[in-house]
Amino acid sequence: MERQDCIFCKIAAGQIPSIKIFENEYVLAFLDIGPISDGHTLVIPKRHYERLDQTEPKVMAEIAKVLPALSAAVSRAMNAEGYNVLCNNGSVAGQVVEHVHFHIIPRHPDDGVFNRWPSYQYPEDKAGQIGEKIKQNISL
Ligand code: 5GP
Ligand code: ZN
Repeated sequence: MERQDCIFCKIAAGQIPSIKIFENEYVLAFLDIGPISDGHTLVIPKRHYERLDQTEPKVMAEIAKVLPALSAAVSRAMNAEGYNVLCNNGSVAGQVVEHVHFHIIPRHPDDGVFNRWPSYQYPEDKAGQIGEKIKQNISL
């Protein structure tokens, strides 16, 4: 399935150029045009799905099959000590392109990428209640 106005569908169809680093029947990986670190790569299903939770499990399994090797390749090629894999879902979470994608972001010491991880502590009991609520919302 393709969406006419989707930039990543167009990239998958070869209608818009990209630096492709991997392709098979289900998955395409290409360099991000606006990298936050050299080698910043996007991994997408060729079919159009907007969000992670809307993506067919079968397609996610195909992504899962290649994501580790692609992450290793990007990381090795960039001499990175580590990398982040990131999937933004919804504009509130920073998703700009509404075709599900995984960022592979190579990381180096003191690179200043994601400087702050805004963690905090739960007040007493809250974690248990939240855990329960999430469990009740799982539908598999
Ligand atoms: P999001 O914020 O939706 O998680 O990330 C979208 C990413 O897609 C951004 O990092 C942006 O630089 C990248 N991007 C947007 N348009 C294009 C394009 O036409 N080609 C490529 N290669 N990357 C794109
Ligand atoms: Zn699309």
